[in-house]
Order: sequence, then structure tokens, then C-alpha cells
Amino acid sequence: MTIPQLALHDGHSIPQLGFGVFKVDPDETERIVSEALEAGYRHIDTATIYGNEEGVGRAIAASGIARDELFITTKLWNDRRGVADTRAAMGESLERLGLDRVDLYLIHWPTPANGSPVETWTTMADMRSEGLTTSIGVSNFDERFLPEIVETGIVPVVNQIELHPQFQQRAATALSAQHGIAIEAWGPLGQGKVDYSTGVIGEIAERLDVSWAQVVLAWHLASGRIVFPKSSSRERMAENLAAADVRLSDADVAAIDALDQGAAGRISADPAEVS
Ligand code: NAD
Repeated sequence: MTIPQLALHDGHSIPQLGFGVFKVDPDETERIVSEALEAGYRHIDTATIYGNEEGVGRAIAASGIARDELFITTKLWNDRRGVADTRAAMGESLERLGLDRVDLYLIHWPTPANGSPVETWTTMADMRSEGLTTSIGVSNFDERFLPEIVETGIVPVVNQIELHPQFQQRAATALSAQHGIAIEAWGPLGQGKVDYSTGVIGEIAERLDVSWAQVVLAWHLASGRIVFPKSSSRERMAENLAAADVRLSDADVAAIDALDQGAAGRISADPAEVS
């Protein structure tokens, strides 16, 4: 199977299907990420708060895969803001990862309670100019928080937001698209908290003889979103990667689009309340 590369507005590109490591036990991360790399994943999404950057770094080092074939994302946690602290946090992440640069560095949450993110954001742009990260973006900056970032004139390449069939974030998606910002869908499968195996998705899966998870991932890919489902099992790693070969008809995509419940579909935290 071939994983599509999506062009980012800064001239770089990102594998559209990757592997996320939220809630992957730090003690198991090296093994699990090594298995994901063996399965064929080349894009790994981690974050400082996951506590497993070191394991990701060890798996990268052990893989023997050329650095330029890998796409590594990490994220600045909420307790690090401002010029000095943002720089320090980035340095610490690079050290834990054993890398001299990441491909993508994100502000993890807007944290309105911590004041404006602008100084942090411009610091990230400076670190990009210095080559510590190839690209910069934001996470959980929905339509309430994205304008302040975009008004700096430094436009994120991605906005990583909770997005799955019952919570499609239409307003954040439209605003991001207006600025050429790609959407990364976190919790793309509903984090195991929603039963997507029945109803419309279950029917499509049965007709195409694929799994419900492959249908949901194929829907994200057909909609132009970047995804990095998390799984600790080799079988599901392979299954999720193979979703790149599943083609949905326009009618099937539209049928899943119709499952959106708006704000009622959210399963995780509201960014306005995260500090
Ligand atoms: P997910 O939607 O990827 O769901 C993961 C769950 O689905 C796991 O319990 C797993 O066992 C199950 N699963 C995986 N593959 C399956 C399959 N083929 N069939 C059935 N079940 C399957 O949720 P996630 O891990 O929260 O999100 C993916 C990634 O997004 C994370 O690992 C992380 O990298 C990122 N993320 C970012 C934020 C953020 O605030 N930026 C928040 C959460 C997650």
C-alpha cells in the first residue's frame, strides 16, 4: 500500500496516515513504535505530556530508517509558555527524542486561562527559522482560538483537533481551510468511546468487506484530513495502515458526513476549559 503525502502550505509534506502514541505506556513505547515502523508507518505523533518521547526516540534510533523518511511530531505542553520556557521545552523534547530537529512542533492546547499564546507562537516561528523544527502548527485551536494565531501573519501548517464521525468540527475546519491549514483529526476512531461498528459505517464495512475502523479512516483520508490512529496490537496497526487502500464512493462519504452531531458529538475536553 502507498501512504499519500499531503502538501503543507509551507512547501513541506506529511504522510497523511501515521501512528499516534497517546496513552502508550512509556515502558512499552519503544517496542510498540518499533512494531509500527516495521508495519510501515513513517509518521509518529507524540507529545511531551504523553511521557513517551524517549521511547519514540529509541525506536527511531533502533530502526535504521533514514531520518528524512520519517515524520516526527511533538507538542509543547500547557505549562510552558513565553520565549525562554518555550525554547527550553523544545530543547528538552529534542533531547528526549534524540533528534536535532522534529518535523512538526505544535502548541498542544490554546489554554486561554494562561493568557495570549502569541509570544509562544512567534517563538515557535523563530525556532523553525533556526531549524529546530521543519514546520509549526497548533492543536485544539478551534474557531474561537485560531483567529488570534492567524492574525500574527504566521499561519500554522496544521490544526490538530478532535474529529470523528459524530463530531466533525465544521466551523474549525472551514476556518482552517480558508487559511490553507490542514486538519489533523485526533481521536479519529472515537478513542474507543463511540460504537462506530454498526449503522451506516457497519453497513459500508460489510459491503466493502473491510473493518469499521478502515471505513472511518478511509473517510478521513477521502476528506483530506491527516490521521494517526493509535493501536498497541500488530494486527490493528496493519489493519489501520491498509485503510489507505480503501476507496469510498462519494455517496458513502456523504452518508458518514451526515452522522455529525455538532457540539453534542464531542467526547473529550472543550479547549476553552483546558489550562
Ligand atoms: P483513536 O481514535 O486513535 O482511538 C484509539 C483507540 O481505538 C484505542 O483504544 C485502540 O485500541 C482502538 N483501535 C485502534 N485501531 C482499531 C481498530 N482497527 N479496530 C478497533 N479499535 C481500534 O484515539 P487517540 O489515540 O486518542 O487518537 C489518535 C492520536 O491522536 C493519539 O494517539 C495522539 O497521537 C493524538 N491525540 C492528540 C490529542 C491532542 O489534544 N492534540 C488528543 C488525543 C489524541
